[in-house]
Amino acid sequence: MARKSPRSRRKPAPGARVPGKGRARATPGRTRVAVARRTKATPGGARTGPKKKRAVSSRDASKHAPKLAGKRAATPAAPAAAKRPRRFAPPAPARVAALLAGLRAAYPDARCELDFRSPLHLLIATILSAQCTDERVNQVTPKLFARYPDARSLAGADPHELETIIRSTGFYRMKARAILSCCADIVGKHGGEVPRTLESLTALRGVGRKTANVVLGNAYGIPGLVVDTHVTRLANRFGLTRERDAVKIEFALMPLVPRGDWTLFSHWLILHGRRVCNARKPNCSGCPVAAHCPRVGVTVSC
Ligand code: SF4
Repeated sequence: MARKSPRSRRKPAPGARVPGKGRARATPGRTRVAVARRTKATPGGARTGPKKKRAVSSRDASKHAPKLAGKRAATPAAPAAAKRPRRFAPPAPARVAALLAGLRAAYPDARCELDFRSPLHLLIATILSAQCTDERVNQVTPKLFARYPDARSLAGADPHELETIIRSTGFYRMKARAILSCCADIVGKHGGEVPRTLESLTALRGVGRKTANVVLGNAYGIPGLVVDTHVTRLANRFGLTRERDAVKIEFALMPLVPRGDWTLFSHWLILHGRRVCNARKPNCSGCPVAAHCPRVGVTVSC
């Protein structure tokens, strides 16, 4: 009989692993997954895979009930608790009042920066101001309103000519379509006059809630909270809300800001967002309302 070498006789230490390798494969060429499947049950019925949980008898259940209940309660609740957002604490009224006073003092000349002479002109200018500066819109609208002074002429405008006039404001095809369709609605449903309610304005094709609030607040003097990108950012940084959706922000701000200040409040935040609290690097050291701002989400500032 051939003698075994001392090396082959040496028993492997329990739990010893070859560096760089996991558990040895049962059969060369088979993956571990295949081996694991195969070892769940043998033809003889003996299980070699993971142990099946023993059924809990009624006696065991009553004995271990408190423990099991604790486990069941703890297991699904743990990840849910980790994901659950922290409760939002509404801002203190005194802080909001001080913030509003600070903004009012910092921007006493706040107003709509779009040039307009009628509600229709403001409506069209607001449609054109999407993804465009107010200065650029103010350069385009004089020529546009000289060519098409009212809703009837705009509704019947030649699309290509209209596109050519408003081209420099960007997204001109989409904006031309919005102008044509909303003017057609104004002529067809409102006799050529821009309606005075949020519902009627938002019912016009091409007019959203933001545009409607701009028209109501600035052309008709009916308070409207305009929520644009600056208002969204600042309302969050000020800790007034943590919503990101424009409509939800509008409803969150309504009880915090006196109704008479809604239109001005939007102008204050838009000016503050443009001049001081920009998106990338807010100028916190030169901010006139820094004392009332919790700087929510601000990581870099100057
Ligand atoms: S303190 Fe900073 S984050 Fe707060 S409003 Fe002023 S610039 Fe913006």
